[in-house]
Amino acid sequence: MRTCQCPRCGTLKTRLAPRRSVTDRLLSTFTIYPLRCQLCTHRFTTFLGKLKTNPRRNYDRISVEYPAQVRPIHDPSTRIVVEGTVSNLSLRGCRVLTKQRVPMGCKVMLEFHPAEYDDPIMVDGAIVRSRSVEGIGLRFSSLLHSEERRLRRILDLRLPDHAI
Ligand SMILES: [Zn+2]
Repeated sequence: MRTCQCPRCGTLKTRLAPRRSVTDRLLSTFTIYPLRCQLCTHRFTTFLGKLKTNPRRNYDRISVEYPAQVRPIHDPSTRIVVEGTVSNLSLRGCRVLTKQRVPMGCKVMLEFHPAEYDDPIMVDGAIVRSRSVEGIGLRFSSLLHSEERRLRRILDLRLPDHAI
């Protein structure tokens, strides 16, 4: 098993990243692939010496069960609060199980309460990127550094060191 260290922060929590540019594709013919650090978001390339399929996601999501509140921010006068449960989580997004409806593309604030902390984590801005009967998929667009650091600590504990 081989893992790959992030040259910026030193963690082994890195994974293959989607190959998108012409350069990415050209390099991949030499088995030089882009990787994405799951903890500091740094993207870098490395020589693997073996063929790998092109992954779809940049970030792995960990399975969790954290109580959450989602607040649409398009209209602050309507104080809608959507109650739900964060069911998976990465540095850049999450999935929230909820019975309530939130439209696609809606900008929201998210607050969720990890079991690891006394205080909830606040995400200032997120966008609804997918919907299903069970809930919504969010992509984080704005996250305070202090909150990102707390989120990173949870991921550091729970993400596997990837075999690449
Ligand atoms: Zn890193």
